[in-house]
Amino acid sequence: MIQLSELLIRFEEVWPSSHAEDWDRVGLSVGSKHLEINKILVAVDLTEEVANEAIRLGANLIITHHPLLLKPIGEVTEEQLKGQLVAKLIRNSIALFSAHTNADVQADGASTLMAKAFGLAEFKPIIETAGGFGHGVIGTLAKPIRLEDFAKVVGNELPRTARKIVFAGRADALIQKVAICSGAGDSFLPQVLASDADVFVTSDLRHHPALDAISNPREKGPLALIDVSHWAAESLWTKRATELLNQIEGVEVFTSEAKTDPWTQEVN
Ligand SMILES: [Zn+2]
Repeated sequence: MIQLSELLIRFEEVWPSSHAEDWDRVGLSVGSKHLEINKILVAVDLTEEVANEAIRLGANLIITHHPLLLKPIGEVTEEQLKGQLVAKLIRNSIALFSAHTNADVQADGASTLMAKAFGLAEFKPIIETAGGFGHGVIGTLAKPIRLEDFAKVVGNELPRTARKIVFAGRADALIQKVAICSGAGDSFLPQVLASDADVFVTSDLRHHPALDAISNPREKGPLALIDVSHWAAESLWTKRATELLNQIEGVEVFTSEAKTDPWTQEVN
């Protein structure tokens, strides 16, 4: 058992809240600092499934990557989703804490974890930040490989989801420099296009930004894209956070088994 107030001090060391983006809502969002914690569940998102998993485990703290209350809510009623979830947590004496952009900019943020899993080395951020390591990562493969083969590596290293991994570009294009942004990386396309990356691995790419990016004239040749599941990419972070927090004495930490990827089936 350890008091949440003490845990919050440890979390601040691992994921300094000052490293979060201004628009972000990190830290404790539900619960009392005086709660005594012995079991923690780490998940990408808070859903009803994750809340039920915490109840089953007897966890008294859930840590998510995505903040539940990123967009402010005007009421906490059980007629709406977020009110329902908050009420469920409070009824079961479960606190909720999130580490989001402040976790992403660390040297072991989700993008770097992906880069390591895909066999990249020599990391630099896509965008440097004042506090931490930076947003996204650009790394180098030991030797050039075909885009299609690299996409298979990406697929093998991430947990399976219903929607397959897709790539844009010539299957036999040789790639060696890889830019990665866990989560929705649309907004980093200009920086990636201007970089020496051959391919950009990210999630939730939309039609127009993706089409413009692959058509963009570049000295280095066209940028290839690999689109992966947002949940699958960031689930790597939940495993890493579980390892880190399990080093704290007095708490048992679990990685959620819930797949919170919204897409459940692909037909073709
Ligand atoms: Zn995300």
